[in-house]
Amino acid sequence: EVEISGVSRSFGSVAALDDVSLAIEPGQIAVLLGPSGSGKTTLLRAVAGIETVDAGTIRLGERVLSRRGSTTSADRRDLGMVFQDYALWPHMTVRDNVAFALRRTRIPIADRRARVDEVLGRVGLGEHGPRYPNELSGGQQQRVALARAIVANPSLLLFDEPLSNLDADLRERMRVEISTLVRESGATAIYITHDQSEAFALADVIAVVEAGRIVQVGSPESIFSHPATPFVARFTGISG
Ligand code: ATP
Repeated sequence: EVEISGVSRSFGSVAALDDVSLAIEPGQIAVLLGPSGSGKTTLLRAVAGIETVDAGTIRLGERVLSRRGSTTSADRRDLGMVFQDYALWPHMTVRDNVAFALRRTRIPIADRRARVDEVLGRVGLGEHGPRYPNELSGGQQQRVALARAIVANPSLLLFDEPLSNLDADLRERMRVEISTLVRESGATAIYITHDQSEAFALADVIAVVEAGRIVQVGSPESIFSHPATPFVARFTGISG
């Protein structure tokens, strides 16, 4: 249902993405696993429509989201995104931050408050609607971002290293929560990490990214037992 085909993107002489193709089945969690600077964020931003592509196409179902020279506007992409730094509006309450994601949806204004509170309850923040982001812990702020991503029921969820600012204990718990929420929502998800254990715990399919290319795609088990290159072996923690 998500089809990335032949996508390239350069910044000056740097090829951030070099002919990248990846197909993700509906309802699956695909993890992009790779070192810093390998192009993961650029690919996710291209899917989100925040970044243009030089070549190739990105489709969601029948719809073309991106191709050279054109993108669907980010507001109309039917997706939710969670960033490493939460990206909440500091001057808005928790409730308003989440409700912001409903502004372009067809959910009637009168029903929005209830929808927001329901989703805040689901991420364990039922009591925190009137508070401001700076009154919350990092984990709570990331839960607000999670609520905002899922509140409009998007068919695609994008995560850019959502746990990397949290301590190890919390990371483990939030990983389980994210996995549960994504599964319950039925959305397809693309999840970026450079952490092998996170990738193996979450993924239906892992795409290993190296220097702007996807060098291997497969189930966590298949990548672990049959790394295609020495880089994959090294990067997935198996000595090569
Ligand atoms: P990280 O884990 O550090 O975020 P990444 O795998 O997400 O890394 P990208 O952020 O996609 O990697 O970057 C891929 C390459 O493209 C890098 O060499 C980066 O410096 C370059 N790049 C990304 N965005 C820009 C930009 N706006 N202008 C110039 N170069 C860029």
